[in-house]
Amino acid sequence: MKTQLTVLGGGPGGYAAAFLAADLGMQVTLIDREPRLGGVCLLRGCIPSKALLHVAKTLADARHLDDWGVSFPPPVIDIDKVRQRKEKVIATLTGGLKQLAAKRKVQVIQARAAFENSHTLKLTPVAGGTLADDRVEFDHCILATGSLPTRLPAFELPTPRVMDSTGALELTDVPESLLVVGGGYIGLEMGTVYAALGSRVTVVELTDGLLPGADRDLVKPLHKKLEKDFSAIYLNTKVAALEDLGEAIEVTFDGDVEQKVQQFSRVLLSVGRTPNTAGLGLENTKVQINKKGFVEVDNRCRTAEEAILAIGDVAGEPMLAHKAAHEGKTAVEALAGRPAVFNPRAIPGVVFTDPEIAWTGLTETQAKQEGRKVEIAQFPWAALGRAQAVGRTEGVTKWIVDPESQRVLGCGLVGYAAGDLIAEATLAIEMGAQVADVAETIHPHPTFSETLAFAAEVHLGTATDLYRPKR
Ligand code: NAD
Repeated sequence: MKTQLTVLGGGPGGYAAAFLAADLGMQVTLIDREPRLGGVCLLRGCIPSKALLHVAKTLADARHLDDWGVSFPPPVIDIDKVRQRKEKVIATLTGGLKQLAAKRKVQVIQARAAFENSHTLKLTPVAGGTLADDRVEFDHCILATGSLPTRLPAFELPTPRVMDSTGALELTDVPESLLVVGGGYIGLEMGTVYAALGSRVTVVELTDGLLPGADRDLVKPLHKKLEKDFSAIYLNTKVAALEDLGEAIEVTFDGDVEQKVQQFSRVLLSVGRTPNTAGLGLENTKVQINKKGFVEVDNRCRTAEEAILAIGDVAGEPMLAHKAAHEGKTAVEALAGRPAVFNPRAIPGVVFTDPEIAWTGLTETQAKQEGRKVEIAQFPWAALGRAQAVGRTEGVTKWIVDPESQRVLGCGLVGYAAGDLIAEATLAIEMGAQVADVAETIHPHPTFSETLAFAAEVHLGTATDLYRPKR
């Protein structure tokens, strides 16, 4: 079989690329080993975790109403129904993708594919399926195979009690206790879900803080909140051994922990993700893999092999769906001869805990590491009417400002709905806005979005919702 463009991988990067290519008139084949489109993000990542976090959030909000004199009896959780509802969300969205592919005449093939050479993929059927053709020849291929949970082979015991993010999202039960290994995005989001459903959650993190890489002043309010929601957070600690006792997993800790040996009903391993390049036959092409295991690409997503482009998690950090989709579109536009480059000033990151943490552009931590001079403008949410009205005053909004040009280079937020607020900051950075542009933009009152303007006013010395003695 011959096609103009083959996209390998049906996640948010791959399907965005395939659909745009079809819209631009290309003949497109989209290959994925899964029976359904959507990739990790939709099938066992961003979307199902957000569905479960919605449940967690609603439970927490209901509990929070106690402070207002409204209380509910303890919730009755039908875990089968929670799981079914989450599955329904996935089914609706993946069904939508199937229709969108069909409408665009994108040919979708379920198979495992590996490069035989720079213009041919060999296909192997999956799950007892059959294939009309076992080879696809292409003019161009976009590699969008994503990433896999980083493995810790020594700890992967043959028991469902030890899970990765896929197992955790299956939500087979609500374990009495859960140990989360790795205090990053996945560990904290899934820990939040299980804690809300009633598990006693413990997090063990190798470094000296949760979410290493994120600015510490943003992590602090979250850490404080999680100390209440979780039963323990162990920093500077690693797991020395795991043993399956049948009824529980016995864990030996090495680090800042008093009780070195503890038992847990389940263990979630969430220590990062690894680009998915194994078994793809890339050695039969000129595609280069860098030291971190990512496919080397230029700013038009081209690899060292003229016919092959790569996007998304497999092509470098940050491993985020929105970055993948943008790269997918850039790759297709580049193929169509348009002057497209992937050169963003800001890629937002969001951790959907409660409170949420979000950042975009330059972080204060990065600025420090690079020895770059920046000015920081902060607004504490305790001074915000809306935050007081809903009892969510723990938030902080800050801008990272270039001292010379007064342009906003980065923004960080912790607080309720921070993940939605960060979009405005990303736009401001992309548009090259100065801090005064943000301050002078009228923000609706009373909303959390005002904190973006107020932080900018703090920087300019014009904030009236705070009192700052004259410098
Ligand atoms: P992560 O890199 O965010 O966090 C892994 C954590 O594990 C780090 O804090 C690290 O220090 C720690 N760690 C590593 N080895 C350890 C060990 N042996 N013992 C204890 N701790 C250890 O990785 P993740 O949470 O697995 O998520 C993977 C990727 O998936 C993220 O980088 C992100 O790109 C993506 N993701 C994004 C979202 C989102 O956008 N909301 C949500 C989930 C995942």
